[in-house]
Amino acid sequence: MDQSQELTNTLVKKIKHISKSEIVQIKQAIDFAKGAHRNQTRMSGEPYYHHSLQTAITLADMKMDAASIIAGILHDTLEDTDVVSDEIQNKFSPEILQLVDGVTKVSQIRLKNLPESTEETNKQKQLESLRKLFLAMAKDLRVVIIKLADRLHNVQTLQYIPTDKQTRIAEETMEIYVPLANRAGLWHIKSQLEDNCFKYLFPQDYLRLYSVVRGQTRQEKKYIERVTKKISAELKESKIKNFKIDGRTKNLYSIYIKTLRQNKSVDQIYDIYAVRIITSTLKDCYTALGVIHSLWKPIPGRFKDFIAVPKPNGYQSLHTSVFALDGQKLEIQIRTEAMHHHAEYGVAAHWLYKEKDKSRNEFNWVKELSRIKDIDLSRLEDEIKIDLFEDRIFVYTPKGEVKDLPIGSTPIDFAYSVHTDIGHHLIGAKVNQKIVTLDYKLANGDIVEILTSKTSPGPKRQWLDISQTNFAKSKIRSFFKKINQTEHKKTGEKILNDDLASLNLPKIKDIPSPKIKTLIKSLPYKNIEDIFVAISNGDVSSKKIIKKIFPESEIFRQKIVKRTKKTSAPASILFGHNQRLSYKLSTQCCQPRYPEPIIGYITRGQGISVHLLKCKNTIHKDPNRLLIAHWKETKDYQYYTSLEIKCQDRVGMLHDISEVIMRANINLIEISVMQKTSKYVKIKITINVKDLDQLTSVIKSISNIPGVESAKKI
Ligand code: MN
Repeated sequence: MDQSQELTNTLVKKIKHISKSEIVQIKQAIDFAKGAHRNQTRMSGEPYYHHSLQTAITLADMKMDAASIIAGILHDTLEDTDVVSDEIQNKFSPEILQLVDGVTKVSQIRLKNLPESTEETNKQKQLESLRKLFLAMAKDLRVVIIKLADRLHNVQTLQYIPTDKQTRIAEETMEIYVPLANRAGLWHIKSQLEDNCFKYLFPQDYLRLYSVVRGQTRQEKKYIERVTKKISAELKESKIKNFKIDGRTKNLYSIYIKTLRQNKSVDQIYDIYAVRIITSTLKDCYTALGVIHSLWKPIPGRFKDFIAVPKPNGYQSLHTSVFALDGQKLEIQIRTEAMHHHAEYGVAAHWLYKEKDKSRNEFNWVKELSRIKDIDLSRLEDEIKIDLFEDRIFVYTPKGEVKDLPIGSTPIDFAYSVHTDIGHHLIGAKVNQKIVTLDYKLANGDIVEILTSKTSPGPKRQWLDISQTNFAKSKIRSFFKKINQTEHKKTGEKILNDDLASLNLPKIKDIPSPKIKTLIKSLPYKNIEDIFVAISNGDVSSKKIIKKIFPESEIFRQKIVKRTKKTSAPASILFGHNQRLSYKLSTQCCQPRYPEPIIGYITRGQGISVHLLKCKNTIHKDPNRLLIAHWKETKDYQYYTSLEIKCQDRVGMLHDISEVIMRANINLIEISVMQKTSKYVKIKITINVKDLDQLTSVIKSISNIPGVESAKKI
């Protein structure tokens, strides 16, 4: 059988989840692509459409829908052949045309489009913009996934292309595609992309690691075979049916990063021998675990039950490590087929399955992005206010519908994202079937159930502080706007005056009128009454108003303490995509100091050393071993300020106060009793805070301690 036929057969075998009529379409697509690419070959010498088939096979592995698989087969026809859009639309469907068109468009996003920039932090920003641009143009998450499958086959065949191009493509993949795969939860694709690029970016390290980890030596392979055989026999004995055992392949690049991060050698990274057991039922997972533990002695502290308690991203599996044959340490993962699919393909797996569920096109960020037309790269940062790339979470309704929210979102945001009425009538929430408070921060994979009541009086003002999305906030505000205006004026003035008093500032009516005039000019309100209303209905916070009237330096007066060099925490350094890795500052040649531009260099055997970007020593070094690095800024001064706390004289009061301060990570300088009567005690504390926000939040926390009557700045 020739290779073309073999590839087609492989694809057909993998599309059992697709209906018969659509399989006919898939076969038509193969013929169509074969015809369109008939005169083209890949660098490897193979017919070009083999690449189309390989892309489709990856998509079939992920159990993508028929439209995605067909678009995968056709993905290069628009750009590289004389096929025109109408042909695809007529022969297949408008949906498929849209996908192919999307893939063609995002293919034009290249690393080389980056403007020349010497500053590394600038480069990071530009990269981020490129990734966002990618998402913006993709519109449909399926386009991203098809493009990833395409890129995967391209990096798998890098050996056939010229050397200078190899590095460029590998770099581009690491900078743009790997983060996208990570973002979409396609971990299997991510690790394959990484390992294939790793080979070209750090060839020597790759080879060294490869020889150790992949265990190409006969002994290692034999060992896994022996272990697999033994487990297999024991599982059969215990009447477990239809299981699979894989000698697990490792993500080499992640091991590499681990060795760098922990500054360890490969053999010190512990879990190299590993197998995975995939069972057909949940019950079998635990039976298999029992079998393993009675067969070999478990290593204490290494057993983890992620089935009963899944990881925040929904990952489920049993993990254990045992002393297996010959006393060798062996890591074992046990999970069902469905858990396995989720582990490999992440959140995407959940909805990709569902053929008829068109809600997948309604991911909020895709919608948000599709509104943006004629994207100008330099303006992109401003256009997209929320970070769409890494700061999103996926959570589920009890019916399994996926909601896409920014990180830090609470049940309130979730409720409003379902429906405004649900939000307005919200009285409580359950996450993963447990009651939670409304300020609970949702995590990836959470199942959120909103409890409502028809008799609920509506949202509370504090929800504005708890909610994260602008959508929820605006709905809550518009609810308050309907309430009576006179009431609003009074409430707003009181909120503002209370906050002013807590900072030892005069009441609003006692503030000199020029200051008030400047304030009103700087805001879109006609007079101070309108500002009161705005405060009350949540349009503007009283803190913001106070900041506008009094600059921080005026509130704290001159009490700025420069931290001395000795006590200040050294500014830390982040690498690549904000990774924390252990590093040493070079002392021999350039001695980098904050905030000079820097670069990381991966030394052989001594982790990362950090040099100045302009350091001559790095210029001649192997560019493949250089790492993007930048300083994480830390403010180098704090305000010195004192608070007066009026409270009951009860046991543990001082302890409670100091605990609140410690928890807020605030430096407590002094605490003393100012005045004591039979009814109450006045305590003075002196603290260092970094800004007004930190001060107001600590005042609020102290006021909430039972027995505290008031807390204010003096
Ligand atoms: Mn391609």
